[in-house]
Amino acid sequence: MTSPQDAATGVNTAAESLAACTEAGRLKRAVKLVDQVNFLVADSELIIAAVANYNVVIDVATRRIQHGCRDFQGQAPSRHLCKHVAATVLALDEQQSLSIAAELADGAAAPEVGIVVPWRFEVITRFTPGR
Ligand SMILES: [Zn+2]
Repeated sequence: MTSPQDAATGVNTAAESLAACTEAGRLKRAVKLVDQVNFLVADSELIIAAVANYNVVIDVATRRIQHGCRDFQGQAPSRHLCKHVAATVLALDEQQSLSIAAELADGAAAPEVGIVVPWRFEVITRFTPGR
C-alpha cells in the first residue's frame, strides 16, 4: 500500500498533471466519475469508453481525443478537458494514465510551441441531424 504522503517526491500524479489542463471544479467532478467509466476498448493504442451518457475516444496512436459534451465543445479550442475526458484518463491503468495526462498537460501549457506531441481535440456528436 502507498500513502498519499509518499507522493511528495516530485513525480506528478495523473491528477496533478490534469490540473494543468482543466480547472479544479471539473477535476473534482471527474474524480467522482471515475467509477462510472466503462471501457469498451482499452489497449495501448486506442481507448473507447462510455462515461455517464457520453462516449470518449482516446486515439493514442494518432493523439486524438473525440468526445461530444457541451463543455468539451467549449473547452476544446483551448485544449482543456471536460470532466468526462478527465475521468476517462484517470480511470486508465496507472502507467498509461500518467503518460497521457503528462502529454495533455504539456499541450495545455504550451499550445503553440514546445509540445512534445500535439493532441487534437475533435468534437463528435452521436449522430448528425439532416439539414
Ligand atoms: Zn464531457
